[in-house]
Amino acid sequence: MTLDVQTLSVVTVFVTALLGALLVFAGLQNRAVRAPMIWGAAYIVGAVGLALITTHGAAPDWLSITIANGLVLLGSALTWAGARMFDGRPVRPGLVLAAPALWLIACMVPAFERDINLRVVLVSALMAMLAAVTAEEFWRGRSEPLMSRWPTVCALLAYAAALLARIPATMLSPILQGQSIMSGVSFALLAFGTLLFTVVLAFLLLNMTKERTELQHKIASLIDPLSGVPNRRAFLEGANRLLMQQSLDYEPLAVLLFDLDRFKTINDQLGHGTGDMVLQIFASTASHTLGSDTMFGRIGGEEFAAVLPVGDLGEAVAIADRVRRNFAKAAAAHGTDDLLPSVSVGVTLGCDPSLPVAGLLAAADQALYRAKANGRNRVESSEPEMSETAAQKKADARPSDRRGWRQTAVRA
Ligand code: GH3
Ligand code: MG
Ligand code: MG
Repeated sequence: MTLDVQTLSVVTVFVTALLGALLVFAGLQNRAVRAPMIWGAAYIVGAVGLALITTHGAAPDWLSITIANGLVLLGSALTWAGARMFDGRPVRPGLVLAAPALWLIACMVPAFERDINLRVVLVSALMAMLAAVTAEEFWRGRSEPLMSRWPTVCALLAYAAALLARIPATMLSPILQGQSIMSGVSFALLAFGTLLFTVVLAFLLLNMTKERTELQHKIASLIDPLSGVPNRRAFLEGANRLLMQQSLDYEPLAVLLFDLDRFKTINDQLGHGTGDMVLQIFASTASHTLGSDTMFGRIGGEEFAAVLPVGDLGEAVAIADRVRRNFAKAAAAHGTDDLLPSVSVGVTLGCDPSLPVAGLLAAADQALYRAKANGRNRVESSEPEMSETAAQKKADARPSDRRGWRQTAVRA
Protein backbone atom coordinates (compact mmCIF):
# COMPACT_ATOMS: atom_id res chain seq x y z
CA MET A 1 0.00 0.00 0.00
CA THR A 2 1.27 3.49 -0.76
CA LEU A 3 0.20 6.58 1.13
CA ASP A 4 -0.37 9.30 -1.44
CA VAL A 5 0.59 12.49 0.37
CA GLN A 6 -1.38 14.79 -1.94
CA THR A 7 -4.62 12.82 -1.44
CA LEU A 8 -3.94 12.52 2.29
CA SER A 9 -3.40 16.30 2.55
CA VAL A 10 -6.64 17.11 0.72
CA VAL A 11 -8.55 14.66 2.96
CA THR A 12 -6.94 16.24 6.05
CA VAL A 13 -7.97 19.74 4.90
CA PHE A 14 -11.63 18.75 4.45
CA VAL A 15 -11.81 16.62 7.61
CA THR A 16 -10.21 19.41 9.70
CA ALA A 17 -12.59 22.04 8.30
CA LEU A 18 -15.60 19.79 8.89
CA LEU A 19 -14.54 19.03 12.48
CA GLY A 20 -14.00 22.80 13.00
CA ALA A 21 -17.57 23.46 11.88
CA LEU A 22 -18.86 20.74 14.24
CA LEU A 23 -16.92 22.27 17.17
CA VAL A 24 -18.29 25.76 16.40
CA PHE A 25 -21.79 24.24 16.26
CA ALA A 26 -21.23 22.58 19.67
CA GLY A 27 -20.04 25.95 21.06
CA LEU A 28 -23.11 27.76 19.71
CA GLN A 29 -25.42 25.12 21.20
CA ASN A 30 -23.92 25.34 24.68
CA ARG A 31 -23.67 28.84 26.09
CA ALA A 32 -22.26 27.63 29.42
CA VAL A 33 -19.09 26.15 27.85
CA ARG A 34 -17.65 28.52 25.23
CA ALA A 35 -14.29 26.86 24.54
CA PRO A 36 -15.58 24.69 21.61
CA MET A 37 -16.11 27.93 19.64
CA ILE A 38 -12.38 28.74 19.96
CA TRP A 39 -11.43 25.12 19.18
CA GLY A 40 -13.71 25.23 16.12
CA ALA A 41 -12.06 28.49 14.97
CA ALA A 42 -8.65 26.85 15.60
CA TYR A 43 -9.56 23.89 13.38
CA ILE A 44 -10.89 26.14 10.57
CA VAL A 45 -7.78 28.38 10.68
CA GLY A 46 -5.59 25.25 10.66
CA ALA A 47 -7.57 23.83 7.69
CA VAL A 48 -7.00 27.05 5.68
CA GLY A 49 -3.26 26.84 6.49
CA LEU A 50 -3.10 23.17 5.41
CA ALA A 51 -5.04 24.00 2.22
CA LEU A 52 -2.46 26.67 1.37
CA ILE A 53 0.39 24.20 2.02
CA THR A 54 -1.13 21.84 -0.59
CA THR A 55 -0.86 24.66 -3.19
CA HIS A 56 2.94 24.58 -2.85
CA GLY A 57 4.54 24.82 -6.26
CA ALA A 58 1.48 26.42 -7.88
CA ALA A 59 1.16 29.38 -5.48
CA PRO A 60 4.03 31.72 -4.51
CA ASP A 61 6.22 30.64 -1.55
CA TRP A 62 5.20 33.58 0.64
CA LEU A 63 1.63 32.21 0.51
CA SER A 64 2.14 28.41 0.43
CA ILE A 65 4.99 28.42 2.98
CA THR A 66 5.13 31.62 5.06
CA ILE A 67 1.42 32.43 5.49
CA ALA A 68 0.35 28.76 5.32
CA ASN A 69 2.58 27.64 8.22
CA GLY A 70 1.74 30.84 10.14
CA LEU A 71 -1.94 29.88 9.97
CA VAL A 72 -1.26 26.26 11.04
CA LEU A 73 0.68 27.64 14.05
CA LEU A 74 -2.14 30.10 14.82
CA GLY A 75 -4.60 27.16 14.79
CA SER A 76 -2.49 25.29 17.38
CA ALA A 77 -2.14 28.45 19.50
CA LEU A 78 -5.93 28.92 19.43
CA THR A 79 -6.38 25.32 20.63
CA TRP A 80 -4.16 26.23 23.59
CA ALA A 81 -6.25 29.40 24.20
CA GLY A 82 -9.42 27.25 24.13
CA ALA A 83 -7.92 24.89 26.73
CA ARG A 84 -7.29 27.90 29.03
CA MET A 85 -10.81 29.20 28.48
CA PHE A 86 -12.27 25.73 29.14
CA ASP A 87 -10.73 25.71 32.64
CA GLY A 88 -11.59 29.36 33.37
CA ARG A 89 -8.10 30.79 32.94
CA PRO A 90 -7.62 34.11 31.11
CA VAL A 91 -6.81 33.97 27.40
CA ARG A 92 -3.80 36.15 26.53
CA PRO A 93 -4.04 37.34 22.87
CA GLY A 94 -0.36 38.44 22.90
CA LEU A 95 0.78 34.92 23.77
CA VAL A 96 -1.62 33.35 21.23
CA LEU A 97 0.09 35.37 18.49
CA ALA A 98 3.64 34.72 19.76
CA ALA A 99 4.41 31.47 17.86
CA PRO A 100 2.97 32.61 14.47
CA ALA A 101 4.72 36.00 14.91
CA LEU A 102 8.05 34.30 15.65
CA TRP A 103 7.65 32.21 12.50
CA LEU A 104 6.81 35.26 10.33
CA ILE A 105 9.81 37.21 11.73
CA ALA A 106 12.14 34.24 11.05
CA CYS A 107 10.82 34.07 7.47
CA MET A 108 11.99 37.67 6.93
CA VAL A 109 15.59 36.47 7.34
CA PRO A 110 16.64 35.39 3.80
CA ALA A 111 19.03 32.64 5.01
CA PHE A 112 16.19 31.05 7.03
CA GLU A 113 13.56 31.53 4.37
CA ARG A 114 15.70 29.71 1.79
CA ASP A 115 16.61 26.75 4.07
CA ILE A 116 13.87 24.11 4.06
CA ASN A 117 15.52 22.13 6.90
CA LEU A 118 15.67 25.14 9.22
CA ARG A 119 12.02 25.85 8.46
CA VAL A 120 11.00 22.25 9.25
CA VAL A 121 12.94 22.38 12.53
CA LEU A 122 11.37 25.68 13.65
CA VAL A 123 7.79 24.74 12.69
CA SER A 124 8.14 21.32 14.38
CA ALA A 125 9.59 22.86 17.56
CA LEU A 126 6.86 25.52 17.77
CA MET A 127 4.04 23.02 17.07
CA ALA A 128 5.46 20.58 19.65
CA MET A 129 5.71 23.36 22.24
CA LEU A 130 2.09 24.42 21.61
CA ALA A 131 0.84 20.81 21.88
CA ALA A 132 2.81 20.37 25.15
CA VAL A 133 1.51 23.61 26.75
CA THR A 134 -2.06 22.67 25.71
CA ALA A 135 -1.57 19.28 27.43
CA GLU A 136 -0.30 21.13 30.50
CA GLU A 137 -3.42 23.35 30.60
CA PHE A 138 -5.70 20.29 30.59
CA TRP A 139 -3.51 18.59 33.21
CA ARG A 140 -3.76 21.64 35.51
CA GLY A 141 -7.54 21.23 35.62
CA ARG A 142 -7.29 17.53 36.57
CA SER A 143 -9.16 17.99 39.88
CA GLU A 144 -12.38 18.21 37.82
CA PRO A 145 -13.50 14.61 37.23
CA LEU A 146 -13.82 14.51 33.41
CA MET A 147 -13.03 11.09 31.91
CA SER A 148 -11.80 12.49 28.57
CA ARG A 149 -9.25 14.83 30.17
CA TRP A 150 -6.56 12.15 30.52
CA PRO A 151 -6.71 10.72 26.96
CA THR A 152 -6.61 14.34 25.71
CA VAL A 153 -3.41 15.02 27.68
CA CYS A 154 -1.91 11.74 26.36
CA ALA A 155 -2.89 12.45 22.72
CA LEU A 156 -1.36 15.95 22.87
CA LEU A 157 1.86 14.67 24.47
CA ALA A 158 2.15 11.88 21.87
CA TYR A 159 1.69 14.45 19.09
CA ALA A 160 4.31 16.73 20.67
CA ALA A 161 6.75 13.78 20.91
CA ALA A 162 6.20 12.87 17.22
CA LEU A 163 6.87 16.48 16.19
CA LEU A 164 9.99 16.66 18.35
CA ALA A 165 11.27 13.40 16.80
CA ARG A 166 11.11 15.17 13.44
CA ILE A 167 13.89 17.58 14.51
CA PRO A 168 16.75 15.04 14.89
CA ALA A 169 15.33 13.14 11.87
CA THR A 170 15.64 16.30 9.74
CA MET A 171 19.14 16.99 11.07
CA LEU A 172 20.32 13.41 10.42
CA SER A 173 18.81 13.17 6.96
CA PRO A 174 18.27 16.70 5.62
CA ILE A 175 15.92 17.39 2.75
CA LEU A 176 17.99 18.24 -0.31
CA GLN A 177 17.65 21.58 -2.09
CA GLY A 178 15.03 21.34 -4.82
CA GLN A 179 13.46 18.20 -3.27
CA SER A 180 9.80 18.60 -2.26
CA ILE A 181 9.03 18.43 1.47
CA MET A 182 6.03 16.29 0.64
CA SER A 183 8.11 13.48 -0.82
CA GLY A 184 9.35 10.60 1.32
CA VAL A 185 7.82 8.01 3.61
CA SER A 186 8.45 9.98 6.82
CA PHE A 187 6.34 12.91 5.61
CA ALA A 188 3.56 10.55 4.50
CA LEU A 189 3.55 8.94 7.97
CA LEU A 190 3.53 12.36 9.66
CA ALA A 191 0.63 13.50 7.45
CA PHE A 192 -1.28 10.31 8.28
CA GLY A 193 -0.54 10.71 12.02
CA THR A 194 -1.67 14.35 11.88
CA LEU A 195 -4.97 13.28 10.28
CA LEU A 196 -5.57 10.68 13.01
CA PHE A 197 -4.58 13.15 15.76
CA THR A 198 -6.92 15.82 14.34
CA VAL A 199 -9.89 13.43 14.41
CA VAL A 200 -9.09 11.97 17.86
CA LEU A 201 -8.51 15.41 19.43
CA ALA A 202 -11.79 16.81 18.06
CA PHE A 203 -13.67 13.77 19.41
CA LEU A 204 -12.03 14.18 22.85
CA LEU A 205 -12.67 17.95 22.97
CA LEU A 206 -16.34 17.43 22.11
CA ASN A 207 -16.59 14.67 24.70
CA MET A 208 -15.00 16.82 27.40
CA THR A 209 -17.52 19.56 26.65
CA LYS A 210 -20.37 17.05 27.00
CA GLU A 211 -18.92 15.67 30.26
CA ARG A 212 -18.52 19.22 31.63
CA THR A 213 -22.20 19.98 30.91
CA GLU A 214 -23.32 16.71 32.53
CA LEU A 215 -21.16 17.41 35.59
CA GLN A 216 -22.60 20.93 35.92
CA HIS A 217 -26.15 19.53 35.78
CA LYS A 218 -25.28 16.86 38.35
CA ILE A 219 -23.75 19.43 40.72
CA ALA A 220 -26.75 21.75 40.26
CA SER A 221 -29.12 18.93 41.20
CA LEU A 222 -27.19 18.05 44.37
CA ILE A 223 -25.93 21.38 45.78
CA ASP A 224 -28.03 24.02 47.50
CA PRO A 225 -27.28 27.23 45.58
CA LEU A 226 -27.60 29.62 48.57
CA SER A 227 -25.40 27.84 51.10
CA GLY A 228 -23.18 25.82 48.73
CA VAL A 229 -23.63 22.61 50.76
CA PRO A 230 -25.42 19.38 49.63
CA ASN A 231 -29.20 19.69 49.36
CA ARG A 232 -31.72 17.35 51.00
CA ARG A 233 -31.54 14.71 48.26
CA ALA A 234 -27.73 14.61 48.22
CA PHE A 235 -27.62 14.58 52.03
CA LEU A 236 -30.02 11.63 52.34
CA GLU A 237 -28.15 9.65 49.66
CA GLY A 238 -24.73 10.36 51.22
CA ALA A 239 -25.93 9.78 54.78
CA ASN A 240 -27.57 6.43 53.89
CA ARG A 241 -24.32 5.37 52.20
CA LEU A 242 -22.28 6.36 55.26
CA LEU A 243 -24.72 4.56 57.56
CA MET A 244 -24.56 1.36 55.50
CA GLN A 245 -20.74 1.36 55.55
CA GLN A 246 -20.42 2.13 59.25
CA SER A 247 -23.31 0.01 60.46
CA LEU A 248 -21.89 -3.22 59.05
CA ASP A 249 -19.60 -3.21 62.12
CA TYR A 250 -22.29 -1.76 64.42
CA GLU A 251 -20.05 1.22 64.98
CA PRO A 252 -21.88 4.40 65.95
CA LEU A 253 -22.63 7.33 63.66
CA ALA A 254 -23.82 10.63 65.11
CA VAL A 255 -26.91 12.16 63.52
CA LEU A 256 -27.14 15.91 64.19
CA LEU A 257 -30.21 17.96 63.31
CA PHE A 258 -29.79 21.76 63.38
CA ASP A 259 -32.59 24.35 63.33
CA LEU A 260 -31.76 28.07 63.47
CA ASP A 261 -33.57 29.83 66.32
CA ARG A 262 -36.27 32.46 65.71
CA PHE A 263 -35.25 32.69 62.11
CA LYS A 264 -38.60 34.12 61.06
CA THR A 265 -37.98 37.03 63.45
CA ILE A 266 -34.47 37.52 61.99
CA ASN A 267 -36.03 37.81 58.53
CA ASP A 268 -38.81 40.08 59.73
CA GLN A 269 -36.62 42.43 61.82
CA LEU A 270 -33.26 42.39 60.01
CA GLY A 271 -34.36 41.66 56.45
CA HIS A 272 -34.34 38.64 54.16
CA GLY A 273 -30.82 39.53 52.94
CA THR A 274 -29.43 39.27 56.47
CA GLY A 275 -31.38 36.02 56.88
CA ASP A 276 -29.68 34.61 53.76
CA MET A 277 -26.27 35.72 55.05
CA VAL A 278 -26.89 34.03 58.42
CA LEU A 279 -27.78 30.80 56.58
CA GLN A 280 -24.50 31.03 54.63
CA ILE A 281 -22.51 31.70 57.81
CA PHE A 282 -24.10 28.69 59.48
CA ALA A 283 -23.35 26.42 56.50
CA SER A 284 -19.69 27.46 56.32
CA THR A 285 -19.11 27.42 60.12
CA ALA A 286 -20.70 23.98 60.49
CA SER A 287 -18.80 22.57 57.47
CA HIS A 288 -15.47 23.78 58.91
CA THR A 289 -16.23 22.62 62.45
CA LEU A 290 -17.50 19.18 61.42
CA GLY A 291 -14.59 18.36 59.09
CA SER A 292 -14.26 16.18 56.02
CA ASP A 293 -15.49 12.86 57.48
CA THR A 294 -18.96 14.35 57.78
CA MET A 295 -21.97 14.24 55.47
CA PHE A 296 -23.53 17.66 56.00
CA GLY A 297 -26.39 19.29 54.12
CA ARG A 298 -29.30 21.73 54.10
CA ILE A 299 -32.45 19.66 54.42
CA GLY A 300 -35.01 22.48 54.61
CA GLY A 301 -35.37 26.28 54.88
CA GLU A 302 -33.33 26.91 58.06
CA GLU A 303 -32.74 23.26 58.89
CA PHE A 304 -29.45 21.45 58.37
CA ALA A 305 -28.32 17.92 59.23
CA ALA A 306 -25.04 16.06 59.63
CA VAL A 307 -23.98 12.43 59.90
CA LEU A 308 -20.47 11.61 61.12
CA PRO A 309 -18.59 8.77 62.79
CA VAL A 310 -18.08 9.19 66.55
CA GLY A 311 -17.03 7.10 69.53
CA ASP A 312 -20.16 7.65 71.62
CA LEU A 313 -23.15 9.89 72.28
CA GLY A 314 -21.11 12.16 74.59
CA GLU A 315 -18.65 12.89 71.79
CA ALA A 316 -21.53 13.56 69.35
CA VAL A 317 -23.08 16.06 71.80
CA ALA A 318 -19.70 17.78 72.31
CA ILE A 319 -19.25 18.19 68.53
CA ALA A 320 -22.80 19.55 68.15
CA ASP A 321 -22.12 22.02 70.95
CA ARG A 322 -18.89 23.15 69.27
CA VAL A 323 -20.89 23.94 66.09
CA ARG A 324 -23.47 25.82 68.21
CA ARG A 325 -20.79 27.95 69.92
CA ASN A 326 -18.76 28.61 66.75
CA PHE A 327 -21.88 29.70 64.88
CA ALA A 328 -22.98 32.07 67.66
CA LYS A 329 -19.52 33.68 67.54
CA ALA A 330 -19.34 33.89 63.71
CA ALA A 331 -22.87 35.30 63.26
CA ALA A 332 -22.90 37.70 66.24
CA ALA A 333 -21.92 40.68 64.03
CA HIS A 334 -25.11 40.20 61.97
CA GLY A 335 -27.55 40.33 64.88
CA THR A 336 -28.61 42.97 67.41
CA ASP A 337 -28.32 42.94 71.21
CA ASP A 338 -31.92 41.69 71.38
CA LEU A 339 -31.71 39.26 68.48
CA LEU A 340 -28.48 37.27 68.21
CA PRO A 341 -28.49 34.37 65.71
CA SER A 342 -28.29 30.98 67.42
CA VAL A 343 -29.00 27.34 66.66
CA SER A 344 -30.66 24.44 68.49
CA VAL A 345 -29.41 20.91 67.90
CA GLY A 346 -30.95 17.47 68.32
CA VAL A 347 -28.52 14.54 68.45
CA THR A 348 -28.90 10.79 68.22
CA LEU A 349 -26.71 7.81 67.40
CA GLY A 350 -27.12 5.45 64.46
CA CYS A 351 -25.78 1.91 64.96
CA ASP A 352 -28.45 -0.15 63.25
CA PRO A 353 -28.24 -0.82 59.49
CA SER A 354 -31.96 -1.67 59.37
CA LEU A 355 -32.85 1.91 60.40
CA PRO A 356 -32.70 4.34 57.44
CA VAL A 357 -31.48 7.91 57.90
CA ALA A 358 -35.08 9.15 57.86
CA GLY A 359 -35.76 7.13 61.06
CA LEU A 360 -32.68 8.54 62.75
CA LEU A 361 -33.62 12.07 61.74
CA ALA A 362 -37.01 11.50 63.41
CA ALA A 363 -35.20 10.52 66.64
CA ALA A 364 -32.93 13.58 66.34
CA ASP A 365 -36.03 15.69 65.71
CA GLN A 366 -37.50 14.61 69.07
CA ALA A 367 -34.31 15.80 70.77
CA LEU A 368 -34.44 19.04 68.76
CA TYR A 369 -38.03 19.57 69.90
CA ARG A 370 -36.81 19.34 73.51
CA ALA A 371 -33.97 21.80 72.79
CA LYS A 372 -36.54 24.32 71.49
CA ALA A 373 -38.91 23.67 74.41
CA ASN A 374 -36.07 24.06 76.93
CA GLY A 375 -35.18 27.57 75.74
CA ARG A 376 -33.27 27.19 72.37
CA ASN A 377 -29.54 27.78 71.71
CA ARG A 378 -28.74 24.35 73.19
CA VAL A 379 -28.05 20.70 72.36
CA GLU A 380 -30.28 17.76 73.41
CA SER A 381 -29.87 14.09 72.60
CA SER A 382 -32.06 10.99 72.23
CA GLU A 383 -31.26 7.31 72.62
CA PRO A 384 -31.48 5.60 69.21
CA GLU A 385 -34.13 2.98 68.45
CA MET A 386 -32.75 -0.47 67.64
CA SER A 387 -33.90 -3.65 65.94
CA GLU A 388 -33.58 -6.95 67.86
CA THR A 389 -30.46 -7.92 65.91
CA ALA A 390 -28.76 -4.63 66.71
CA ALA A 391 -29.82 -4.86 70.37
CA GLN A 392 -28.36 -8.36 70.55
CA LYS A 393 -25.09 -7.13 68.99
CA LYS A 394 -24.98 -4.30 71.49
CA ALA A 395 -25.60 -6.71 74.40
CA ASP A 396 -22.79 -8.96 73.13
CA ALA A 397 -20.36 -6.06 72.86
CA ARG A 398 -17.68 -5.56 75.54
CA PRO A 399 -18.59 -2.95 78.20
CA SER A 400 -15.93 -0.57 76.85
CA ASP A 401 -17.71 -0.64 73.45
CA ARG A 402 -21.05 0.30 74.98
CA ARG A 403 -20.23 3.79 76.11
CA GLY A 404 -22.33 5.25 73.23
CA TRP A 405 -25.64 4.48 74.88
CA ARG A 406 -26.04 7.22 77.46
CA GLN A 407 -28.37 10.21 77.34
CA THR A 408 -26.66 13.60 77.44
CA ALA A 409 -27.67 17.27 77.39
CA VAL A 410 -25.57 20.41 77.02
CA ARG A 411 -26.95 23.79 77.96
CA ALA A 412 -26.07 27.18 76.54
P1 GH3 B 1 -37.79 28.35 65.88
O1 GH3 B 1 -36.80 29.02 66.77
O2 GH3 B 1 -38.87 27.70 66.63
O3 GH3 B 1 -37.14 27.40 64.94
O4 GH3 B 1 -38.48 29.51 65.02
P2 GH3 B 1 -38.22 29.91 63.53
O5 GH3 B 1 -38.70 31.29 63.33
O6 GH3 B 1 -36.80 29.66 63.19
O7 GH3 B 1 -39.07 28.84 62.73
P3 GH3 B 1 -40.12 28.99 61.58
O8 GH3 B 1 -40.27 27.60 61.02
O9 GH3 B 1 -41.37 29.66 62.06
O10 GH3 B 1 -39.43 29.93 60.53
C1 GH3 B 1 -38.50 29.51 59.61
C2 GH3 B 1 -38.26 30.66 58.65
O11 GH3 B 1 -37.17 30.41 57.78
C3 GH3 B 1 -39.45 30.94 57.79
C4 GH3 B 1 -38.88 31.15 56.40
O12 GH3 B 1 -39.32 32.36 55.81
C5 GH3 B 1 -37.40 31.23 56.65
N1 GH3 B 1 -36.63 30.77 55.53
C6 GH3 B 1 -36.69 29.56 54.92
N2 GH3 B 1 -35.82 29.50 53.89
C7 GH3 B 1 -35.17 30.70 53.84
C8 GH3 B 1 -34.16 31.24 52.99
O13 GH3 B 1 -33.64 30.61 52.07
N3 GH3 B 1 -33.74 32.51 53.25
C9 GH3 B 1 -34.28 33.23 54.27
N4 GH3 B 1 -33.82 34.47 54.47
N5 GH3 B 1 -35.24 32.75 55.08
C10 GH3 B 1 -35.69 31.50 54.87
MG1 MG C 1 -37.53 24.97 61.21
MG1 MG D 1 -36.06 27.65 63.24
